[in-house]
Amino acid sequence: MLRRFYPCAYVRSVFSIDYAKLYNKGFRAVIFDIDNTLVHHGDNSTPEVDELFRKIHNTGLKTLLLTNNDEERVLRFIKNIDTQYICDADKPKPASYMKAIEMLGVSKEETVFIGDQMFIDIIGANRCGIPSILVHFIQLPEEKHIGKKRYIEKFILWFYRRNKKYRSQLGDIYIKKEVENALEQR
Ligand SMILES: [Mg+2]
Repeated sequence: MLRRFYPCAYVRSVFSIDYAKLYNKGFRAVIFDIDNTLVHHGDNSTPEVDELFRKIHNTGLKTLLLTNNDEERVLRFIKNIDTQYICDADKPKPASYMKAIEMLGVSKEETVFIGDQMFIDIIGANRCGIPSILVHFIQLPEEKHIGKKRYIEKFILWFYRRNKKYRSQLGDIYIKKEVENALEQR
C-alpha cells in the first residue's frame, strides 16, 4: 500500500546524482520539480543550478521542468537555463506527466522524474510508470517548522529505507556511493 509512494531512489540533493550514469543506463530525459527540489521555494535559480543544467545537457539528457506553480515563477527561474517547461501542471494528476513525455519525445522508461514530495511528485510519476528519484527537500537553516505532510513522509521513508528492492531500483546513480546515506537523514 505504501509502495505507490516509493521512489526508485532517494538522494540528498539534485547535486548528488551523476547524470552521465543515468544516460549510460539508457535514460534520455530528466523531468524536474522546481520548488524545494532545485532551489528553496520561490527562489530564483543559482549559478550552481544553472551550471548543473549545462552539465546535464552535455551528457545528452534533455530536461523539462514540471511545476504546479505559474508561468511567472518559471520564467523567473529559467533566465539562464535553456529548458522546456510545463507550469500549472496540476501534479499529481497524470495528464501533465504524459504531456511532458510527449514534449520530450522520449518513452516513459527513458525518463526519470526528480522531485521532493512523495504525495505530489513521486506518486504522480509512479501512476504514470515513470521512474522517479526523491530528493531531500531544501530547507533553510532558520526553518524549524516542517508541515504535517513531511512527518507522514518521514514515516513512509522509515519503511522505504528498509526495503532494498525498492530503494536501489536504479542501481548506482550517485556521484559518491556514500550519498546513499542520505537515506538515514529523515
Ligand atoms: Mg517541490
